[in-house]
Amino acid sequence: MPGTLFIVTAPSGAGKTTLVSGLLTRDPLVSLSVSYATRAPRPGEVDGQHYHFVDVPTFRALRDKGEFLEWAEVHNNYYATSKTWLESQISSGRDILLEIDWQGAQQVRKVFPQAVGVFILPPSVEELERRLRGRGTDSEEVIARRVLGARGEMRHVAEFDYVIINEDLSAALDDLVAVVRASRLRYANQEARKPEFFHYLEQD
Ligand code: 5GP
Repeated sequence: MPGTLFIVTAPSGAGKTTLVSGLLTRDPLVSLSVSYATRAPRPGEVDGQHYHFVDVPTFRALRDKGEFLEWAEVHNNYYATSKTWLESQISSGRDILLEIDWQGAQQVRKVFPQAVGVFILPPSVEELERRLRGRGTDSEEVIARRVLGARGEMRHVAEFDYVIINEDLSAALDDLVAVVRASRLRYANQEARKPEFFHYLEQD
């Protein structure tokens, strides 16, 4: 039985990473896909856990070998989702969550049209900027670039199935948990989970 694929997209500063790690604690049936990235690790980030950190030539070689399900350039760095890992996880029935940008989300939807798209919005653009500044890990130039990128990212919100506005972290986490639970109850998922039962219902 194939698992459910979740795509979670948000402008940086919307609280996506915190929400996703909260979801993984609350719902152990969901696993996170670890992307490839060409940017430098931030303090505390671990290779193989937050990202597979690679240099640009390695990234290009993997891309040319067809190792990526999707890839995109975001804030002057490259990011990609591993195709082999994802396909084997989904086909063995695991629920997988991708934390990727809108460009990646568009590419994944073409391959997995049944993927569930979730967009996380900040309460306002002003609040977003305040959060980006408060993180204290990026330079002013990087922050300005990210605010601009955030506005562009938010223009794609209508391409997603669900929208969570992260004003209050605990309410937003409840929302994300609810989306995951509800998605598992879709007809196609339930039918795949108990085919004999649904087959029986179709008989006279
Ligand atoms: P950060 O550098 O802050 O971790 O991530 C920057 C942006 O890259 C975020 O919008 C994040 O969703 C996106 N991103 C991370 N991994 C991937 C990926 O594998 N593919 C795509 N398309 N975007 C990604």
